Amino acid sequence: MDIEKFRQNAHELVDWMADYLRDLEEYPVRAQVSPGEILKQLASNPPSRSDSFEEIFDDFQKIVLPGMTHWQHPSFFAYFPANSSPPSVLAEMVTATIGAQCMSWETSPAAAELEQRMMEWLREIIGLPSEFQGVIQDSASSATLCAILSAREVATDWRVNRAGLSGEPDMVVYGSTECHSSVEKNVKIAGLGKKNFRKIQVTDTFAIDTRALVDAIERDKAEGRLPICMVAALGSTSSSAIDPLLDIADICKRYRLWLHVDAAWAGSALVDPELRWMIDGIEGVDSFVFNPHKWLFTNFDCSAYFVRSPDALLKTLSILPEYLKSEGGEAVRNYRDWGVPLGRRFRALKLWFVLRSYGIEQLRKMIRTHIDYAQELALEIGAERDFELLAPTPLALVCFRYRPTKVASPVELDSVNERIVKEINDSGAAYLTHTKLNGAYAIRISIGQAGTKQHHVKNLWSRVKQTARGIRLVV
Ligand SMILES: *Cc1c(COP(=O)(O)O)cnc(C)c1O
Repeated sequence: MDIEKFRQNAHELVDWMADYLRDLEEYPVRAQVSPGEILKQLASNPPSRSDSFEEIFDDFQKIVLPGMTHWQHPSFFAYFPANSSPPSVLAEMVTATIGAQCMSWETSPAAAELEQRMMEWLREIIGLPSEFQGVIQDSASSATLCAILSAREVATDWRVNRAGLSGEPDMVVYGSTECHSSVEKNVKIAGLGKKNFRKIQVTDTFAIDTRALVDAIERDKAEGRLPICMVAALGSTSSSAIDPLLDIADICKRYRLWLHVDAAWAGSALVDPELRWMIDGIEGVDSFVFNPHKWLFTNFDCSAYFVRSPDALLKTLSILPEYLKSEGGEAVRNYRDWGVPLGRRFRALKLWFVLRSYGIEQLRKMIRTHIDYAQELALEIGAERDFELLAPTPLALVCFRYRPTKVASPVELDSVNERIVKEINDSGAAYLTHTKLNGAYAIRISIGQAGTKQHHVKNLWSRVKQTARGIRLVV
């Protein structure tokens, strides 16, 4: 593809992109395909001669697009959002075009320095104290791994880095039963062993029971283990529970635990100062992660990891072989030392585009709107006799179920609710997912797409009621 052909294809592609975003609502939200349906349409072997861009793009539309779930659809209410925005998409085009590998300062000084400034902006936008220094990671999972590794090294004075785990006491990491699965995965990756991960019980709001946390730490200490890290959930994935940070920070200080905050989704809501009660206790936090790629209109991937002491992180991860020695010395930031992968995409650019395009006021308004829709929806659900909320709604996630008086057993209740979700998802009109809360099947409605308006939420709620009440109950 020569440059003039590229120019022509790119112009056409941009038209397609704009049409796609304009016409998103015409697509079924969740892909309506069965397993293997796309695979069987793809050529078994790579082409020996070139295909034209027209042919490739034609196949993309015919084969690939029907197998896509449309995450930017305004009726996407599943999981948590991975929202984006036009300025973010434009920045991704630039990033892809320049194609820089931004592992160290020298490999693109502007990328390193823009990242540093963007992390300062984000820190201010969400109200973190100014000591925190940030780095963009690919995901919250990776950031939490960095936190657990740092905790391990701080607790052993970097002995594990030097000599491995043998001879060390069992090191214990704590989180609630509702904390994200990445915590347990990372405990395993860090070599600490799943048996040394404590899932602490939660209270009736699904936030961690801090008395049980203290008991578990005491027990571990009494039995010769070394408590090293607590991962607090600020907005748990299942029900958006918010662990009480102030109490947890106190406990972590008392027992000298590394305190990591996983605010992957909810962190973006801190753009609203009225919600900063969630980070009461931030002074006692060692590290904090949130994903602008979830709820801050920035394309996946962009996870913001903040640490109180970059020294601990760098001492844990940095390594300098001859072939990576580069310009800048101590005066510059080589972000390759701030995370697991060496290679890094230029991800700060999209943040710059997004933050400048909207400004704090507009970002706050967009997120506040999502929260308002969710609060209203929760009120409506709570007002219906045959529906019940199953968890508090502090932000923009609503967990509930249909509960008709006719249905008797918990098993039947679960299966009726499962059918509601399946019918709506199969219709393509909206996309929702579920969770289990206290063992019961709960429908989750997560509001956070850039294009979601009030009528999308209202339509969804009508559809849920209609679907639920239309299900023929066999009793
Ligand atoms: C989504 C989520 C994660 C995982 O985020 P990735 O960036 O996909 O790794 C971790 N914790 C919480 C609370 C989440 O909601």
